[in-house]
Amino acid sequence: MSGRLDRRGFLAVVPGAAVAAVLAPHAAAASAAAAADMEMVVLAAQCDPVKDGTGLTPGAGPSVRLVEQALVDEGLLAAQYVDGHFGTATRTAYGRWQESLGFSGPDANGLPGKGSLTALAEGRFSVTRLITPGSRTTFQGFPFNTRTVAMLTEAQRLAKVSLVVEQGSYSPGDDPTSAGTHDGGGAVDLDAEALTAAQRTAVLTALRRVGFAAWLRNPSQDDWPWHIHGIAVNDTALSTPAQKQVGMYYLGRNGLANNGQDDGPQVTKTTWEQYRRTA
Ligand SMILES: [Zn+2]
Repeated sequence: MSGRLDRRGFLAVVPGAAVAAVLAPHAAAASAAAAADMEMVVLAAQCDPVKDGTGLTPGAGPSVRLVEQALVDEGLLAAQYVDGHFGTATRTAYGRWQESLGFSGPDANGLPGKGSLTALAEGRFSVTRLITPGSRTTFQGFPFNTRTVAMLTEAQRLAKVSLVVEQGSYSPGDDPTSAGTHDGGGAVDLDAEALTAAQRTAVLTALRRVGFAAWLRNPSQDDWPWHIHGIAVNDTALSTPAQKQVGMYYLGRNGLANNGQDDGPQVTKTTWEQYRRTA
């Protein structure tokens, strides 16, 4: 049973329900005007947990606060965490919300998806800029979702270099050095062995322009031949380690265990949806 249903049941049986019923229309009218931008909420859910402090993701604060207040109302989050920072406490609470809806495993890892977010918002606030990873498909024989394939296709067009996939998404255990980053959606490895330095830079730049957190990896970094590892920012099916890499990318790091400086081409960080609105 979901927390929302619990709450309705509670209102139905306790004395004072009549008072709540009188007050409810006003509360509903107030919240109806509020809107949470799903793109911003999901971006904050990737970027905020890896920060040292409680800094906000630019533009995400008001939307995250609506989500946090709803989690408080559901009894899943302590009120002190309603601060617009989608940190680990909020992520854990959101995961419990997903579990209450029947999701499990990676579908309850605390990264908001369209279904869980619209369910949480129901009767409280509206949700704008809904995003989904699309349906499962294949590209060059590897598993992906349609959003990631669209991103790769556009990056290939921009780079004018043929992309060669060597690992896709939804591939737990395929590459032990990837530490689970390919378990969910949005992950890709591209062969870089045969590319010139200029082509590697062109591909990396194009991937970043369309909304991937992407880095060139050399054999000394993870014992794999030269390749480009990419994670699609704001893919709501990302594994937990992949979400963390997006956060590290936005912090200007390399996404590796050594937490080194990002050594890739400096491109304005963006998401696929933001790219499509401006391209
Ligand atoms: Zn990879």
